[in-house]
Amino acid sequence: ARKDLGRHIMTTKIEHHAVLHTCEKLEEDGFEVTYLDVDQNGRVSANQVKEALRDDTILVTVMYGNNEVGTVQPIDEIGELLKEHQAYFHTDAVQAFGLLPIHVKNSHIDLLSVSGHKLNGPKGTGFLYASKDVKLSPLLFGGEQERKRRAGTENVPGIVGLKEAIKLSSEERDEKNEKYQSFKTIVADTLENAGVAFE
Ligand SMILES: *Cc1c(COP(=O)(O)O)cnc(C)c1O
Repeated sequence: ARKDLGRHIMTTKIEHHAVLHTCEKLEEDGFEVTYLDVDQNGRVSANQVKEALRDDTILVTVMYGNNEVGTVQPIDEIGELLKEHQAYFHTDAVQAFGLLPIHVKNSHIDLLSVSGHKLNGPKGTGFLYASKDVKLSPLLFGGEQERKRRAGTENVPGIVGLKEAIKLSSEERDEKNEKYQSFKTIVADTLENAGVAFE
């Protein structure tokens, strides 16, 4: 059962500032944050999460795909590990969303963030997925919009644009992924031909 007790948060050292600066602010507010190291490939392991996990951990936030080098984190394994723990599992899926098939239920993700403009959608839009058992306090006050979590009249053109961007990006997802994988092969081959070791 989720009790939401504790002040310990876990994240990684390679998050986007959207997460890192938020964690720093939470530290100022009295939360304790563990910043996990990554290996030479920029990856954290579920085992590192397991070792740093405490009874009072309330949130684990690990990005899905990295915005600098593209490393994909072991989200399924981390989700599986946290399934029976009180900590909510958030993933910053801003980079991964348009490229990888994501299943929040299968991966036991409680919270997932996506930004519209990274999908070629309108700037200033995005969405937060929250599973039914996550209790969220309002980010803004002054209205009942967005289930009382984000007050203010909705940006309808932005929402419609975001929906269209999601539709287009999911149609093109596999094709785009294949294209990017071929870029990776070209870079790897070029480096190898130049005598650079490449993993
Ligand atoms: C761009 C980006 C963000 C921030 O999204 P904005 O909508 O531009 O603020 C967060 N996380 C990752 C991984 C990103 O690439």
